[in-house]
Amino acid sequence: MPTTGLRSPVRSEPVSHAGTPPLTWGSACHNETRSRFRKTFNTTMAPTGRPAPPDPKDFLGFDGLLDPEERLLRDTVRRWVADRVLPSIGDWFDEGILPRELATELGGLGLLGMHLDGYGCPGASAVEYGLTCLELEAGDSGLRSMVSVQGSLAMFPIREYGSEDQRREWLPRMATGEVLGCFGLTEPDSGSDPGSMRTTARRDGPDWILNGTKTWISNGSVADVAIIWARADDGVRGFIVPTDTPGFAARDIPRKLSLRASHTSELTLDDVRLPREAALPGVSSLRGPLSCLTEARYGIAWGAIGAARSCYEAALDYAVTRQQFGRPIGAFQLIQRKLVDMMVTVNRGLLLALHIGRMRARGRAGPEHVSLGKFDNVRMALDVARTARSVLGANGITLDYPVMRHMNNLESVITYEGSNEIQILILGQSLTGFQAFK
Ligand SMILES: Cc1cc2nc3c(=O)[nH]c(=O)nc-3n(C[C@H](O)[C@H](O)[C@H](O)COP(=O)(O)OP(=O)(O)OC[C@H]3O[C@@H](n4cnc5c(N)ncnc54)[C@H](O)[C@@H]3O)c2cc1C
Repeated sequence: MPTTGLRSPVRSEPVSHAGTPPLTWGSACHNETRSRFRKTFNTTMAPTGRPAPPDPKDFLGFDGLLDPEERLLRDTVRRWVADRVLPSIGDWFDEGILPRELATELGGLGLLGMHLDGYGCPGASAVEYGLTCLELEAGDSGLRSMVSVQGSLAMFPIREYGSEDQRREWLPRMATGEVLGCFGLTEPDSGSDPGSMRTTARRDGPDWILNGTKTWISNGSVADVAIIWARADDGVRGFIVPTDTPGFAARDIPRKLSLRASHTSELTLDDVRLPREAALPGVSSLRGPLSCLTEARYGIAWGAIGAARSCYEAALDYAVTRQQFGRPIGAFQLIQRKLVDMMVTVNRGLLLALHIGRMRARGRAGPEHVSLGKFDNVRMALDVARTARSVLGANGITLDYPVMRHMNNLESVITYEGSNEIQILILGQSLTGFQAFK
């Protein structure tokens, strides 16, 4: 017998140390230790008996990981989406619209710029913002995009890089939805590589003159104000451009098959003259727009699970009711395999998003963690949507069910705010130290 007992896999006799009573699990000494442990860590005895069977729509009891305020907010947003969005979203997607008044309603609920502090913004936690994105995207990615663009891409740069006057002028009205914003970074020849942008901002006396074209801009044609990123003499600058400024024009990009319940536009800036105060003073490099993209990616990491959850639940409901060969299709092994894969994937995505959210709340999540969340959760959401589509058979290709709408939307989500290839390169650089963008 080894003298320490540390390497012994089985200890049949209690070990006796000189002067101390023998230690066995269940001895008085251990009971005392356990009760001290429970007091310290606020745990309870593991309950005996079989736990309740898992809820197929909340298999891991995710609800139990949220605090009451988080659950309340989540339930409020979920109810609003069920009442206000789900009955009409198929038609909106079909018609290629998203009613403008939704922005005012979202503002009334306190969901625009909700994770920002001050200037009429509620200062919600990272997890509260994430849960909101999840519930909105369970409705439609277009709806979540409207909120992401407003809060993370239009309001965030004003909050982060704007002057006190700019914050006071714009943020309170943007938080209520009275003013809707958009974010102009992408150009026809400058997508994943924003450093190649051609839009220029040149000084003319006290004014700025902007020229260029931005494309694929969410909210573009319905926005009241655009945050435009342009190349100036001192670097990449952000400008607050009211969309009624002469020389500014927006037109919707036609024939989209994805994110149809969202306005996606081309913006042209033709000698747009802006006062000196239109420039965001706090940043003059690509760090400005890239930090906005990190904000938006965080919301996407959560939102994508909303789309995936909606697809999984539609497939589950369908599988237990649709009969073929005299049985519900959910009774066939091949269908069960698909349902289980989807359920596991959705639950894993939820835990990842929550973990990154809690890290973010403690200031521990960097852009790389956010990239991980966007990368993995969007690709998994697309897998779930495609699998769900197959479970629904022919019905899966219609707008009577949400799955193909989500599937098509996710093709945009995997591309925008940095495509998944770009997220991989960010993560690869973080692992190896080598930059592989060019
Ligand atoms: C519906 C929708 C809404 C959008 N909303 C906005 C918005 O509000 N504001 C805004 O500014 N932009 C917006 N975008 C634009 C979006 O951010 C860009 O589409 C995205 O950055 C990719 O750029 P790109 O489409 O020009 O593709 P490209 O950059 O041309 O890339 C084409 C392909 O090549 C890959 N690729 C590129 N570089 C590399 C590399 N170094 N290594 C490996 N692969 C690479 C890409 O991943 C992609 O698969 C939106 C796009 C869509 C579809």
